Amino acid sequence: MLNFQELSQKYDTPLYVYNFDEIDKNYNSLKQAFRARKSILCYAVKANSNLSVLKYLAKLGSGFDCVSIGEVKRALTAGAQKYKIIFSGVGKKDNEIKEAIEKDILMLNLESEEEMYRVEMIAKELKLQTRISIRVNPNIDPKTHPYISTGLSENKFGVDIKSAKKMYLYANNSKYLNPVGIHFHIGSQITQTLPFKEASIVIADLLKGLKAANIDIKFFDVGGGIGITYKDEKTISLYEYAQNIFEALGNQDVTVVCEPGRFLVGNCGYLLTKVLYEKKNEKKRFVIVDAAMNDLLRPSLYGAYHDFELLGANESAEKSLADIVGPICESGDFLAKDIYIQETKHDDLIIIKSAGAYGFTMSSNYNTRTRAVEVALINKEDRLIRKRETLEDLLALEIDFI
Ligand SMILES: *Cc1c(COP(=O)(O)O)cnc(C)c1O
Repeated sequence: MLNFQELSQKYDTPLYVYNFDEIDKNYNSLKQAFRARKSILCYAVKANSNLSVLKYLAKLGSGFDCVSIGEVKRALTAGAQKYKIIFSGVGKKDNEIKEAIEKDILMLNLESEEEMYRVEMIAKELKLQTRISIRVNPNIDPKTHPYISTGLSENKFGVDIKSAKKMYLYANNSKYLNPVGIHFHIGSQITQTLPFKEASIVIADLLKGLKAANIDIKFFDVGGGIGITYKDEKTISLYEYAQNIFEALGNQDVTVVCEPGRFLVGNCGYLLTKVLYEKKNEKKRFVIVDAAMNDLLRPSLYGAYHDFELLGANESAEKSLADIVGPICESGDFLAKDIYIQETKHDDLIIIKSAGAYGFTMSSNYNTRTRAVEVALINKEDRLIRKRETLEDLLALEIDFI
């Protein structure tokens, strides 16, 4: 076990700790699964966008999947190669499109017909040709939480196959658009291989049709979504996952792009929090800690489960039912619900596990709470990678006109 006590004393809590050695291991295991073909891993920046995380991944050779121009610039700031940056998202603004074209990234991933015309118009104004891919919605159920399912017709993402064909034909005839990629991303925290396999088959079939129409697609982008273990979920075999994609592709000559977010960083992260109080009423027991939904939103947003550990607890002590809750003025503010935990004391340390993805990046300043510190562990050495915010940071943009 990492020395969490020492880290919590050194940096205070709430505190995020990321084990970079684990990120390295995950990156290489996925890269290894794809070794039989040309492949690029484009890390989904939104999962954990700390500059040091991006820098570390860029050094491993990773590309980046971005969903705002802010993320594109973050990736570039971290030293990413521009030809390994993809810009996705259903609602890109004109200035974002313009900057992405000017920065000459690998491709803009288009999510609607109207967006395509907009991108073409902006490229024309800039007198530049831009590489694009189209996000196709294969209408496949990823069997995950409805909030993180993205590949069904009821979801806002991508376009259906019929529209995609029309768009590729149009783009292929445009002076300003160069269709080089085909993309799907059916959801997140997917723990079965079948949905990935089904989607790969549907999209590879579309790819075949495009190639037959002389549209020279070079990148087959399978999105992200590989699930991790939070509690007792069985995860997918990376080998099988990659093989299914290769089988769907057959002998079509394309580079496979994969956009893992959660898989690379989720299990590498820990949220350290200290117990403030305990209280009980006739119905429930509450362990009140100094981290809250503004630090880790997933339990409140998705009812997500995060495993945890109470450090220094008397192992033989009896556990009883409780909620671990934060100080925020919302009943939805909890980090764990109806779990079993020993009696705690003021200043006991609780480690919330698997908090490396969609943890800090989803955090906010609700209740004028300053955001947590972030620390990296590399070769077992700790490095501060984001300072704790101060009240001055929070007030900096507010204008006093009274
Ligand atoms: C969020 C997202 C990803 C990453 O998803 P994970 O489930 O974290 O792997 C990949 N691609 C796109 C387009 C995304 O929006």
